[in-house]
Amino acid sequence: MEAIKEVSMRVDLHTHSTASDGQYRPRELVKMAKEHNLSLYALTDHDTIDGIAEARLAALQYDVNFIPGIEISTQLGEEIHILGLRIDETTPALIQACEEYKKSRLSRGQRIIDYLNSLGIPITRNDLPEKNDGSLGRPHFAQYLQQNGFVRTRQEAFDRYLNTPAFHAATDRKKPTPQEAISLIHSAGGKAFLAHPGLLKMGKRWQESLIVELCEAGLDGLEVYYFKHTKNQVAFYRRLAIQNHLLCSCGSDFHGESVKPDVPFGMEIDADIL
Ligand code: AMP
Ligand code: ZN
Ligand code: FE
Ligand code: FE
Repeated sequence: MEAIKEVSMRVDLHTHSTASDGQYRPRELVKMAKEHNLSLYALTDHDTIDGIAEARLAALQYDVNFIPGIEISTQLGEEIHILGLRIDETTPALIQACEEYKKSRLSRGQRIIDYLNSLGIPITRNDLPEKNDGSLGRPHFAQYLQQNGFVRTRQEAFDRYLNTPAFHAATDRKKPTPQEAISLIHSAGGKAFLAHPGLLKMGKRWQESLIVELCEAGLDGLEVYYFKHTKNQVAFYRRLAIQNHLLCSCGSDFHGESVKPDVPFGMEIDADIL
């Protein structure tokens, strides 16, 4: 029998721009997708579709195979991220939901300012990116804390200030359930994927039940290939995807070197998984 030819390709189906908490503008990311020779590239900003129009235009200019996406923060016990891929960003229900997310993020932003002020840190709204198109997030605060000498690294900003029980008690916002996010993504014609399952805090058994539960709500796939997943995690999630008849996705979660220094843009995968 003829040997099966191994084909690999470069893709990235999970990236963040300045429309949420990324370093680069949507059009800069599309240009990078071209330069890195990606076969598929998706923009998946946190809770916003604001970067998609710019990325679409740039994708035409640079001839990049672009997939419009979103990463929705949801809560079911712990925080769970749901990626929507190939969404139609002109869907009224999606536009309306993103408006709500934006409002909820902005009001949480004020609670974060108040919380940091209560710890003696003199941050004001003016210290945050002025033209953040809407998805204000913790990385913006981490940047302030680092640039103003309150911490040495971004990780320290999360460990000491932005990821403590007191922080969450003072600032958490109401989030949709993963089931609601899946249904919203479907209403916008997209496919819903469980993002970076390897970052979930719950144990493997709970993850298996969660995936079955989300499948009942119509989950389409798992982000099996993720920059931080170990070989064992990839094997585990790939098996779960096969068992549950789910698609596999592949993404880096690139935010730019100044936001997440250790994450390179684009990932190499065997073409047979797509
Ligand atoms: P938010 O959606 O505003 O709560 O911010 C979440 C974002 O903060 C994630 O997408 C990551 O980019 C970043 N983040 C969350 N937790 C950590 C952590 N422990 N260390 C570094 N970055 C983190
Ligand atoms: Zn982020
Ligand atoms: Fe995420
Ligand atoms: Fe992400």
